[in-house]
Formats: sequence, C-alpha cells, structure tokens
Amino acid sequence: MSAPRRPLVAGNWKMHKTAGEARDACAALAALVGGAPGIDVAVCPPFTALQAASEALAGSPIAVYAQNVHEADQGAHTGEISAAMLRDAGAAGALVGHSERRAAGDTDDQVAARVRAGIDAGLLIVMCCGESLDTRRAGDTQAWVTRQVRAGLSQATAADVDRLVIAYEPIWAIGTGETATPEQAQEACAIVRAVAGEVVDGQALRVLYGGSVNPANAAELMACPDVDGALVGGASLDPESFAAIVAAAS
Ligand code: PEP
Repeated sequence: MSAPRRPLVAGNWKMHKTAGEARDACAALAALVGGAPGIDVAVCPPFTALQAASEALAGSPIAVYAQNVHEADQGAHTGEISAAMLRDAGAAGALVGHSERRAAGDTDDQVAARVRAGIDAGLLIVMCCGESLDTRRAGDTQAWVTRQVRAGLSQATAADVDRLVIAYEPIWAIGTGETATPEQAQEACAIVRAVAGEVVDGQALRVLYGGSVNPANAAELMACPDVDGALVGGASLDPESFAAIVAAAS
C-alpha cells in the first residue's frame, strides 16, 4: 500500500504583484502559515518576482513555483524561461499547461515536453488539465480530461511520480466564482488519478482541484478522497485568505 498522500496547496498569482509586492505578501504569508506541518505550500509568482519571493520565504516551509517553463535548455526562444533559469531564481517547481497558457497557444506536445524538461531539471511540475463549459455540457468531461492527461504524461515515466502533481481545473470554474461541487471535483480527480495510473503509481500521485477555491469552500473540496489539495488563483493574492485555505488543508 502507498503512503498517505501529502496535501499541497499552491497559489497561482497569475500576472499580479511586482517584486516588492511579492516580498511583502510572502513575509505576511510566512508569518500566518508558520510551520505548515504535514502539508506542502507553494506560491507561484510571475517570473519577475521569483527571486524576491524566494528570498522572502527563505527559512519558511513555503516553496516558490513558476507559472510556466520552456522545454529547451537554452537557445533562440525569445521571451521564454528555462528550467535552469527558474531554479537559479529560487523556484522549486512550475505549473505547466494552465488553461490560460493553453488558451494563449501552448499545445499538448509542448505540455508533455515541459513536464519532461522540468522534471529532468529537478523541478516539481504541476500539470493542469480541465474542460470548458461546452465540453461539460456535452457530457465529454471524462474523454477530454483523459486525453489531456494521456497527452501531458506521454513523455513521463513511473519514476516521475514524486516530482509530478496534476491539477484538475475546470475552465468554467477558474476566476468565475462558480466552484465545482465536491461531487464534480471528486469524480474528475478520480478520473485523473486512474488515467495517470497508466504511467505512474496512481495511489501515490497527488491530484489537486482548482477553480474558485476560497476559504469558505476549501475544506469540503479538499475532504474528497481523490482531492489532495488545491491550486488557488484569486484567493491566493491575499495572504490572509490563502493562509485560511492552507489551514483548511491541515
Ligand atoms: C487558477 O488560476 O489556477 C485558478 C484556479 O484561479 P481561481 O482560483 O481564481 O479560479
């Protein structure tokens, strides 16, 4: 039997906060979260604030992840950032395949290559998947999520399980205030776990829910048996509300 899965709560700041604002938010968060026993906590600032956030969180258990990573080591990729550069700026992990990145053009092949490159460089990768409202209404959620997970893990191996997390984030719930019900989150996260289990040990893999998580709904979402934590957008920008979500996970 696999060991119990350690919850992870990660805050995706999207395109918010300068380096100075990140420093202040991280200092406040570190004071509010304290030792965070038994759970992993991370913030995902914009690239320009990674260094400031990691300096402000030095000595705290809160990790810093980036919001994306390029698959190449270096080269002619204007505007992109490599895994080695992220590590140099203090990041321990990165999101890959967030729906806002996919909407901006990131493809399944790029997501797969970024999962591979990030893990190879020693990052923890949180690969995101999730369906649109039209897909859900058409009854195609399972097929959509299955396809995205298979594609995203097409270069992964069983050995990657400790450096891989999958976040199920229905697009219709991101930034809308329309959270999935615990039943919907559980059903989809169980599908993610089963499909990922074709490649890695599904019982060891952490699967997160994301989409309008807030201090009021976090506990019931994270109590679902296949939900091992949360990827939080808007509610992670305020240290007090993010700390309340972290408290709900512990
Ligand atoms: C996200 O950006 O990953 C997210 C889940 O956003 P929000 O919590 O604001 O819906």
